[in-house]
Amino acid sequence: MNPTPEQLMIGKRLRDFSASWIRNLRDTLQTLSTLPRNSYAYPLPSNFPFFDTSLQEKIHWIEVHGNTTRRYGFVVHFEYHLDTTNLWSPAVWIVRSSAMSILGRVEVDFRILSDTDSPVVIDEDFVLEMMLHSFLREQPMRFSSRVVPNINPVIYPGVIGNIEIFELRTFDGVLVLERGRRMVANRICSMCDQLLPPSGPNVCISHLLNT
Ligand SMILES: [Zn+2]
Repeated sequence: MNPTPEQLMIGKRLRDFSASWIRNLRDTLQTLSTLPRNSYAYPLPSNFPFFDTSLQEKIHWIEVHGNTTRRYGFVVHFEYHLDTTNLWSPAVWIVRSSAMSILGRVEVDFRILSDTDSPVVIDEDFVLEMMLHSFLREQPMRFSSRVVPNINPVIYPGVIGNIEIFELRTFDGVLVLERGRRMVANRICSMCDQLLPPSGPNVCISHLLNT
């Protein structure tokens, strides 16, 4: 069933208001950057972004159409969980409303979280930034890495190996931002020739999901 014009309007408003909530949180974190996480003024759960509670915000607004005025009120929930339904096990953050479905969704490749040498830190500000992109594009986002051969020895002279590129993409594969890159040793999928990051399963993601 297609959403009604009112449902589309509510979804858009909730994404807009949630985006300004997330922007405020980022601004507050920046202003209070020296504040201890257990301080009462800290705006997030002390173990954010890997938190086990639901972060909530009440959103109210009024729509005026001609002579009619309608009031809307929703609670928006920001939640984290580690997906264990498949071997790829991404870490997942969602923002959902009390009545509507998911407003924003961010997945992070678990290999990146478990890699202590990763050049990218999945901290509170980066999770909030990725969620903003999900609101803006009205699409779920996935942060992962891909490995490409080092074909430009001018940039990395004398280095043997591949380049791992860390990127945020939509689920359709559209690039949203690049966060970092590093040189990695050569490692390939045991079932095809795809290059792999230095740690994690010894097969590529498509073979991981289809075996
Ligand atoms: Zn493969």
